[in-house]
Amino acid sequence: MSDAQSPPILLGSLLPDVDVWSDRVAVALGQNPSAFTGPGTNTYLVGTGPRRILLDAGDGREEYLPVLEQAMERVGCEGIDEIVLTHGHPDHIGGVESVMKRFGEVLVHKRPWPDTDVVYPFEISPIDDGSVIKAEGATLRAIYTPGHCPDHLCFILEEEQAAFSGDNVLGIGTTVIPAESGSLLEYMDSLARLEGEEPTRIYPAHGPCIQDGRAKVGEYIEHRLERERQILDALGGETRELIDIVRAVYVGYPEALYPAAGQSVTSHLVKLEEEGRVSCEGHSVEGGGVLEALWKRS
Ligand SMILES: [Zn+2]
Repeated sequence: MSDAQSPPILLGSLLPDVDVWSDRVAVALGQNPSAFTGPGTNTYLVGTGPRRILLDAGDGREEYLPVLEQAMERVGCEGIDEIVLTHGHPDHIGGVESVMKRFGEVLVHKRPWPDTDVVYPFEISPIDDGSVIKAEGATLRAIYTPGHCPDHLCFILEEEQAAFSGDNVLGIGTTVIPAESGSLLEYMDSLARLEGEEPTRIYPAHGPCIQDGRAKVGEYIEHRLERERQILDALGGETRELIDIVRAVYVGYPEALYPAAGQSVTSHLVKLEEEGRVSCEGHSVEGGGVLEALWKRS
């Protein structure tokens, strides 16, 4: 249930533990529901043969392995061929070790992010933009899509012209751009790249299958541009504190949400600053005091 204390994202959605979304794509739910992961992380069995790719691996909790086994049985998959990760956040990479303990050591493909990869006791097989990974009946092509985090890859499933969008586009809620490691400027470029692929369906890392992928990416872009217009309107010709911008943009929202909203507005302001459209005075964002930072249009 949602209340004023909870983040206003991803709540209240249920998905089956195992589902088959196409001839080549089955989903096993990571069993890690939360306000941030919605129903949990979608992990995908990709391909048509007896050994398939596992795309994302959940966060490593015990309850996930029987669900993955159930998904494998359902589609006649006898083993994991390779593991492919959209990015290194714990709810995607955290399950790799236990999956390999159960099903055997396999290659783990991911774009390197040395700072965070170092904590995991397995080797990463590095992939990047344009890398192609194949299994029987499936060809995955990586597209580098940073913004949510610096190592993020989306994958085009060539046989369907569908996209595995990781955390870039979700089946429910909107993507979080963390202040420390995210970049809204990069994220907007990544959405444009994804839109350019004209994806049919989108298989997101959280939430249900998106039937019209291209339209959904367009909505995501429009949502961010609309927020940006609201922020510029709220600034007007004045120098204003972040908290006042948050109040103007999130009018009618409970104050408990202001810190989260402040982060979101800050990621927009940092993007606008990088584009030379606004400037920040006083507290720097890195030095804390985010809500007291002063902003004006350039
Ligand atoms: Zn993530």
